[in-house]
Amino acid sequence: MASSPLLATSLPQNQLSTTATARFRLPPPEKLAVLIDKSQSVDEVLQIHAAILRHNLLLHPRYPVLNLKLHRAYASHGKIRHSLALFHQTIDPDLFLFTAAINTASINDLKDQAFLLYVQLLSSEINPNEFTFSSLLKSCSTKSGKLIHTHVLKFGLGIDPYVATGLVDVYAKGGDVVSAQKVFDRMPERSLVSSTAMITCYAKQGNVEAARALFDSMCERDIVSWNVMIDGYAQHGFPNDALMLFQKLLAEGKPKPDEITVVAALSACSQIGALETGRWIHVFVKSSRIRLNVKVCTGLIDMYSKCGSLEEAVLVFNDTPRKDIVAWNAMIAGYAMHGYSQDALRLFNEMQGITGLQPTDITFIGTLQACAHAGLVNEGIRIFESMGQEYGIKPKIEHYGCLVSLLGRAGQLKRAYETIKNMNMDADSVLWSSVLGSCKLHGDFVLGKEIAEYLIGLNIKNSGIYVLLSNIYASVGDYEGVAKVRNLMKEKGIVKEPGISTIEIENKVHEFRAGDREHSKSKEIYTMLRKISERIKSHGYVPNTNTVLQDLEETEKEQSLQVHSERLAIAYGLISTKPGSPLKIFKNLRVCSDCHTVTKLISKITGRKIVMRDRNRFHHFTDGSCSCGDFW
Ligand SMILES: [Zn+2]
Ligand SMILES: [Zn+2]
Repeated sequence: MASSPLLATSLPQNQLSTTATARFRLPPPEKLAVLIDKSQSVDEVLQIHAAILRHNLLLHPRYPVLNLKLHRAYASHGKIRHSLALFHQTIDPDLFLFTAAINTASINDLKDQAFLLYVQLLSSEINPNEFTFSSLLKSCSTKSGKLIHTHVLKFGLGIDPYVATGLVDVYAKGGDVVSAQKVFDRMPERSLVSSTAMITCYAKQGNVEAARALFDSMCERDIVSWNVMIDGYAQHGFPNDALMLFQKLLAEGKPKPDEITVVAALSACSQIGALETGRWIHVFVKSSRIRLNVKVCTGLIDMYSKCGSLEEAVLVFNDTPRKDIVAWNAMIAGYAMHGYSQDALRLFNEMQGITGLQPTDITFIGTLQACAHAGLVNEGIRIFESMGQEYGIKPKIEHYGCLVSLLGRAGQLKRAYETIKNMNMDADSVLWSSVLGSCKLHGDFVLGKEIAEYLIGLNIKNSGIYVLLSNIYASVGDYEGVAKVRNLMKEKGIVKEPGISTIEIENKVHEFRAGDREHSKSKEIYTMLRKISERIKSHGYVPNTNTVLQDLEETEKEQSLQVHSERLAIAYGLISTKPGSPLKIFKNLRVCSDCHTVTKLISKITGRKIVMRDRNRFHHFTDGSCSCGDFW
């Protein structure tokens, strides 16, 4: 390593002014050690270091501690190069200095350096101790961790709590749950850190039950263990459990939630559209000591846009300090999801003008979605091509999804089909449903049937594709085809995914399934539905029974449409909120075209703004029209 001049071990005595040395009285080494520990800035450390060098104390056999203290002080002030250079200048470093240097390299992500230092330690015939291993393990991958594990056993440190915790952590990070479990089970005493590492490991695997069982069995928990558990729920499809645990943490009062806790809780809110809870968390953050840093702000932007309040997302975005690419991505995706394509593209252009910001593959998903939602074919294709050509980003299946949906919307069905066939990866059911949906929209039943039959031949088990094929048959009145699809579904045991819609009223999320009468206000809901039905008919509404799967009588078809889950949720919203207030509905599937027409009419006759998030995007219904321009 190149040495910096300031780190020369000693200066020739004749270069020192004798008068200056005489005037300067160096404090005793013990005092110097304290001064190094208390140093407030790197300049102070440099001054003390210089004085030590002038007095030749660094190599003094009685004071090796000064060297160690200087090493740590440089590292703690972020001067990693100084810190490691000092180590390399030291003749015969002892175990403590070796361990300190390994730790510095490890925690600063200098993996190779950490390993080199460890090898150097071994060749100096010094035996590593528990702190050497726990330091080294911080930079290990599962593979290198396994190698170090053998050394750990060789030096008889296998059940040392520090080392075992480090090993559990290494295996946990690499997802090797079996090895992590083995080390963890052999620990005579489980520390808070090792238990948390084990919970992380379970949560990463999606085994939230095991994670929770261990979490509940801990007699002491810090905020890190709470965060791991809350985030584990949020990331593995248990948003309600995540929010319940967050509430439990608040109720216990200790430990205090931090930035990571609220980001996990906000992610849970986004998943179930719990806008009121999300807003409450925002207020909570403002009133607590949690910093509104870029990560928390990004969590808020994502929550507000996914919960249907784009306005609030924009307000947070504008106030976000030091926006990174993740924050920009969240806002671009927010605009795209809500159909504000021009704003998404404006932001994309603005972002490119900022030095230090590079678009990622996520940026392109949002941007291409914006193009797809607005039907900007040429712009979309240009951006898709620029990904690889200008930014060296390989398109993933999601990017192809946007491109196919863009071409499909524009009626370029053959081109969409060709794009899928020519991809260098297998198409997923989302992609196929997209092109099938476009065939239905543009009335190209010949191509639609060809694709659907091809897919059924491939034995794809996605219920959505069967439903689309059935709809395509129904649209041309081919009820034999409809019956054929229904039998096929029965044969293959494919069940249509039930549509579920939710609406949040006074902090409570109400869930509805098609035709369900489970809700306590069911009677009022159905009365409201009948009233709506009469009023919209007088506005010229004719039910579009083409999309009904079964070959029922016309009146029966009408009834089955009338009780689609989103209509039950809207009806409940109408009877339980003040006239004129907006309604926000979430649906797990795409909204059907009949419900879309009806919702437009409801927005007109009631004067309400209705925001609906379906599987694909947001629809903003106002005064009889929808922001999606009837394409979704
Ligand atoms: Zn519907
Ligand atoms: Zn719409």
